[in-house]
Amino acid sequence: MENFIFQNPTKLIFGKGMIGQLAKEIPAGKRILVTFGGGSVRKNGVYDQVKEALKGFEVTEFWGIEANPKIETLRKAIELGKEKKVDYLLAVGGGSVIDGTKLISAGILYEGDAWDLVLKGCEKHTLPLGTVLTLPATGSEMNSGAVISRKETAEKYPFYSNYPVFSILDPTVTYTLPPYQVACGIADTFVHVMEQYMTTPGQSRLMDRWAEGIVHTLIEIAPEVLRKQDNYELMSEFMLCATMGLNGFVAMGVRQDWATHMIGHELTALHGLTHGATLAIVLPGLWRTLKQKKMAKLVQYGERIWHIDQGTDEERADKAIQKTEEFFKSLGLPTRLGDAGIGEETILEIQKRFTQRQVAFGEDQDVTAEIAGQILENCK
Ligand code: NAP
Ligand code: FE
Repeated sequence: MENFIFQNPTKLIFGKGMIGQLAKEIPAGKRILVTFGGGSVRKNGVYDQVKEALKGFEVTEFWGIEANPKIETLRKAIELGKEKKVDYLLAVGGGSVIDGTKLISAGILYEGDAWDLVLKGCEKHTLPLGTVLTLPATGSEMNSGAVISRKETAEKYPFYSNYPVFSILDPTVTYTLPPYQVACGIADTFVHVMEQYMTTPGQSRLMDRWAEGIVHTLIEIAPEVLRKQDNYELMSEFMLCATMGLNGFVAMGVRQDWATHMIGHELTALHGLTHGATLAIVLPGLWRTLKQKKMAKLVQYGERIWHIDQGTDEERADKAIQKTEEFFKSLGLPTRLGDAGIGEETILEIQKRFTQRQVAFGEDQDVTAEIAGQILENCK
C-alpha cells in the first residue's frame, strides 16, 4: 500500500424527506445563492421542498446551469453572487449543478476571471457549499472535484476545489430521472470505481474488495433499476454506490488511472455526448489497448465479478472486457465511436490537442497523445 492521507469532511444526510433538514445545516443569517439546472426540480417537487425548507433565509436563485457546465454561464452566477454579497451556496441538481457551484463558490471570492481557477485549481478560498443531489453518478456531492467546460473553445477540464459541507441524498427525487441519465449514471459510477481499481494488482486487498463490492452491486441492481425506477431500496443502493464510488473511500493507498475520463472529456467537449456514454465507449477500448499491462488485474476482475475461471490469462482478460462492454450495452449505451456517430476526424483532433498539451495520463503517466490515439482507434 502507498502512503496516503484521507480526510473527507462532507456530512451525508440520506433518506426520504431529508430535504426538510436543510435549515438545520445552514447557519442562521446566511445570504444564500441557490443554484439550479434547467428546471427538472420544478416538475418533481424538489424546488418546492427546498423553498419551504429555506423560509426565513435571504435567498437568491440562479437558474440554468447546463449539463457539462459552461464557464460562460458560471461567470453570470459569480457576478450575481458578488452583487448580492452572498456568503453561502446551495447547489440543487446533478453533478453539473454541483460542479458548477464549486467554481461559483471560489469565483465569488476571486477578483480575476474564474477560468483561471479551472486551470490552476481553487482549493483554498471558497464560500461554504451545501448540496441537494438529484442524480446519482458523479460523486461530486462528496468529493472536491469539478469539471468545467468552455463553449468558446470546446474545452473541458477537471480541477480540484472544495468539498461540500453537507449533501442531502433523498432517493425518491431520482424517480423522475430520464432512463438515459440513469444508464449514464450507472456507467459513470462503474468507471469511477474502475479508474481506481484497474491498475497494479496486489496494492490493497481491502480496496480491491470494496471496489468490487460497488461494481458487483451495480451489476446486480442495474436491470431492475432500469425496469422499475421508483423502487426506493434499489435507488437507495444506486445513490450510495455513486457517492461511495468517488469520495476517496476506494482510493486509499492505491494508484489511480483516470485516462478513460480524460479521453471521454474530449468526446463531450467536441460532440456534447453525455459523460457516462463517453466512458462506456472509451473504457473497453482502453482495456483492449492496455491489455498486456493490465492483464493480471483484468483476470482478477473477470474471476471475481464475472466468474470467468477458464482459459489462459489472455482469454480471460478478453472475456472480462467483452462482459463489460455487454454490460454497458445492456444499459442501452453506445460502446463504439460509430454508435455515437463519431469518426476518424475526432480521433485526429483529440490526438492533436493531446500532443499540444503534452499529456501523460494513467497510473504510470504513459498514456501519451499517441497511446490515446491507439485507444480511440480501438473504440471504433
Ligand atoms: P447532469 O449534467 O447534472 O444532469 C443531466 C440531466 O439530468 C440534466 O438535463 C438535468 O436536468 C437532469 N436531471 C437531473 N436530476 C434529475 C431528476 N431528479 N429528474 C429529472 N431530471 C433530472 O448529470 P451528471 O451526470 O450528474 O453530471 C455530469 C457532469 O459531471 C459532467 O460535466 C461530468 O464531466 C461531471 N463529472 C464530475 C465528477 C466529479 O467528481 N465532480 C465526476 C464525473 C463526472 P435539469 O438541468 O433540468 O435539472
Ligand atoms: Fe465521471
